[in-house]
Amino acid sequence: MTRNRSHAPRLHIDWTRCDGRGSCTELLPHTLDRDEWGYPMARTGEREPTVAESDRRHVNRAVKACPLLALRVVD
Ligand code: SF4
Repeated sequence: MTRNRSHAPRLHIDWTRCDGRGSCTELLPHTLDRDEWGYPMARTGEREPTVAESDRRHVNRAVKACPLLALRVVD
């Protein structure tokens, strides 16, 4: 079955918690880049980048590593 994009897991970034130090961008270089202030942003320009199944393990690792609990996967 093909997964509808709108139902694919997405990475939510809570910028109200984030301090913009960017460790998540180092763990997810293909998904996240940093804006001019250092805050993570999706390379695709999406507010909540889609998490490919093949990246799920790396994304989960970045979520756990975020010191300010600013990342979560939204299913
Ligand atoms: S690891 Fe967390 S606090 Fe640090 S830049 Fe990423 S989202 Fe922000």
